[in-house]
Amino acid sequence: MNGLMMQKQLLISSLIVHADRHHGDTEIVSRRVEGDIHRYTFRDCHRRARQMANALTRLGVNPADRIGTLAWNGYRHLELYYGVSGMGAILHTINPRLHEDQVAYIANHAEDQYIFFDLTFLPLIKAVAGRCKTVKAFIAMTDHAHMPKDAGIDNLLCYEDLIEASSPDYAWPRFDENAASTLCYTSGTTGNPKGALYSHRSSMLHTYAAALPDSLNCSARDVILPVVPMFHVNAWGLPYIACMVGAKLVLPGPALDGKSLYELLEAEQVTVSAGVPTVWQGLLGHLEETGQAFSSMRRTIIGGAACTPVMLRKFQETYSVAVLHVWGMTEMSPIGTVGTMKARHVEMSMEERYAVQSKQGRAVFGVDMRIVGADGVELPWDVATSGDLQVRGPWVVRDYFRSEGNSPLQLDDDGQEWFPTGDVATIDADGFMQITDRSKDVIKSGGEWIGSIDLENIAMAHPAVSQAACIAAKHAKWDERPLLIVVKKPQADLTREELLAFYEGKIAKWWTPDDVVFVDAIPLGATGKIQKNRLREQFGDHLMTRVAN
Ligand code: ADP
Repeated sequence: MNGLMMQKQLLISSLIVHADRHHGDTEIVSRRVEGDIHRYTFRDCHRRARQMANALTRLGVNPADRIGTLAWNGYRHLELYYGVSGMGAILHTINPRLHEDQVAYIANHAEDQYIFFDLTFLPLIKAVAGRCKTVKAFIAMTDHAHMPKDAGIDNLLCYEDLIEASSPDYAWPRFDENAASTLCYTSGTTGNPKGALYSHRSSMLHTYAAALPDSLNCSARDVILPVVPMFHVNAWGLPYIACMVGAKLVLPGPALDGKSLYELLEAEQVTVSAGVPTVWQGLLGHLEETGQAFSSMRRTIIGGAACTPVMLRKFQETYSVAVLHVWGMTEMSPIGTVGTMKARHVEMSMEERYAVQSKQGRAVFGVDMRIVGADGVELPWDVATSGDLQVRGPWVVRDYFRSEGNSPLQLDDDGQEWFPTGDVATIDADGFMQITDRSKDVIKSGGEWIGSIDLENIAMAHPAVSQAACIAAKHAKWDERPLLIVVKKPQADLTREELLAFYEGKIAKWWTPDDVVFVDAIPLGATGKIQKNRLREQFGDHLMTRVAN
């Protein structure tokens, strides 16, 4: 017997309809590429998203057509989030930090019909336009006055011209919630990028789960500033969450340096922000230099790479900002775990709580996870055992876009499907997961595994270290040994011996890195993560040559 409840499809358009109707006056504030601050409301955003949907219809866009964007976090990008997905087309957010060959590859693989871009990315558009086979026009996200002159691009259109010429009379279509809404490619550290194709249903369920108190804990009283880009896994879902809960949204545009971020956080009285650790390093550096503090920020969501215990303490002890450590991936829409305390942790000492918070957290409802050994057999949830982390749930990918039958899923003994994350982790008895490494970054020393994240966290706790990466370097006797690559803080004095001595008593002696290489900079990828494959190319033979010498 079926229940007698309404069959209402879960559609992304319902979020902006709700925000308009119930939080119509709530503001969306954007730092524009043009340099100024723009502010309007959810009501305005909804009106312009409808105008955009009419404009796209006029341009011949059909349901399921892919519409690309190369854009910062800003109100026009937000209008496309709702306008494109709302009309039944698929929003394809492209990461502009990727190499132009990858951008062209992605646009062709997705068969984008139109590409919207912020003026910053005009040179990139010029470089790839001739190679984008399916694109009918490129649309500059600006007004008539700022349109580039003699850009040399065929079929260049102006965003504000399209809006001006379009009526706001538009009724969002109703369709199956399983229809695709959004497409986001992984950054493709190895091989070509792969497309995660989210559906309206998966996005909506992710939004509900991510907003919960023990998840990102967002409400109508919050002012949210996502530093994490809207071109990277939908800014962790925050543009959707803001509409669902009616929070004010602050979008920082291209200005992601510590000073610009701080000014915006203060001016708009932001309460929650979100980003990768490298961004927060810039902000914390700015605060240290200027002696400033936060007057409104209460929480910061840190993920995408491990948040070091040093950063955790700095935010909480020096600036009274609570850190929410999250883990996820493009293939998971992205949220999988969040490091919020259970009731029993509240009674713990600060030191014990820091140890819990440093882990990546426990699964949000909807995500099931487990660790398995090389034989695929599930491993116990204790602190001692690490294994390959697998997940499943309604917002986890089942297949990649146009993967030609190469599904990434693995089956367990009961025939259940699991997505292998490529991460190696432990899970403790409370269900807190801790990433020890990405499987391709694990250091295999004489058959034993050494987790690089632990070693990096220790180095980062040294006051003279600005950035540290630990890689597997080839070793004549042990196959691989840990090698530490370090950027010192400006003017800091630090020797190899001092840094290695810093490890004493903190880890098993045989985990201590074999050597330290000091460099001026560590290469970061398109999503702000350390590119260990490049470091391995550069320094992988370091220990061999050292022994040989
Ligand atoms: P990509 O860099 O492949 O595009 P994602 O942005 O999807 O990917 O990154 C997913 C990966 O980032 C995870 O599999 C994990 O290795 C890493 N990651 C994400 N959050 C954390 C975290 N809090 N701590 C450690 N690693 C993390």
